[in-house]
Amino acid sequence: MNLRECKRCLLLESGEKAVFETVNAYLENLDESEKVSDKIYRERLNNCSECDSLISGMCLKCGCYVEIRAALKNKSCPNADNRRW
Ligand code: SF4
Repeated sequence: MNLRECKRCLLLESGEKAVFETVNAYLENLDESEKVSDKIYRERLNNCSECDSLISGMCLKCGCYVEIRAALKNKSCPNADNRRW
């Protein structure tokens, strides 16, 4: 994997097409009952996009791709000092 560092980029924006497609395929296979609404998903990702801990689609606080973490009902922002969602 050759991720270029892209501060405050989501995978969607980073140009990492192969990783983005893998993440998208994972999300499509999740049960809808596990996922937040599109509105909440967008709100969460907007918060990530403004966060200093986002690098190339990955959260430096937990090592997750935020486009996956933000989709899951049972997840929250891992930054206990400044939880954004
Ligand atoms: S710390 Fe929270 S808001 Fe920041 S990138 Fe991670 S999940 Fe997103």
